[in-house]
Amino acid sequence: MAREPQISTGPEWADDALPACAVGMDLLRRFEAARPNDYAFLQAQDFVDLVTSAFVGIPEWDAFIEHCETCEDCKK
Ligand SMILES: [Zn+2]
Repeated sequence: MAREPQISTGPEWADDALPACAVGMDLLRRFEAARPNDYAFLQAQDFVDLVTSAFVGIPEWDAFIEHCETCEDCKK
């Protein structure tokens, strides 16, 4: 389970402006893998309004929210 993180398509993050820590980004990549079409519509605003984003209800997004709400690194 120690795969090298890699960020591919979807929203473009500046290296110093990732919306989540490595664990959170891994959850995001699962979301991307499971729902590439939805992932393509992710906006920066979705990371500001996590629980009101249009993606709530998607299991992979909900997992990401759950992580962010309990992760010190993601609660910035
Ligand atoms: Zn985190």
